[in-house]
Amino acid sequence: MNCIFCRIIKKEIPSKIVYEDELVLAFEDIAPQAPVHILVIPKKHYSTLLEIEDKELIGHIFMVIKKIAKEKGIDERGFRVVMNCNHEAGQTVYHVHFHLLAGRQMHWPPG
Ligand code: 5GP
Repeated sequence: MNCIFCRIIKKEIPSKIVYEDELVLAFEDIAPQAPVHILVIPKKHYSTLLEIEDKELIGHIFMVIKKIAKEKGIDERGFRVVMNCNHEAGQTVYHVHFHLLAGRQMHWPPG
């Protein structure tokens, strides 16, 4: 399988890793949309959120997001978590990932 995020997990492609454990990897987005833009991904390949039935994994991902937000000092001012599912939502990489965005004023509704 030629999945770019699986290759990042295997360290075949370099990335700026901010957190790693046995279940997830978090790394800086290559094209940041905010001063803080981190992608949090499961190490197991799922193309989209629709494939995940593992509630513990989803819970773990959000605990990791919270931990990173605290470590980056963005927890008090605020941060946004985005998960684009399928093409109309704007998903471009088909290895499920959660965007952690912060460091600027966010707007609503998103584009
Ligand atoms: P999506 O549009 O699928 O929700 O988000 C995919 C994200 O992956 C984009 O924000 C894009 O900048 C990021 N991305 C794509 N390729 C790479 C890469 O090779 N390295 C890193 N660090 N980020 C990537």
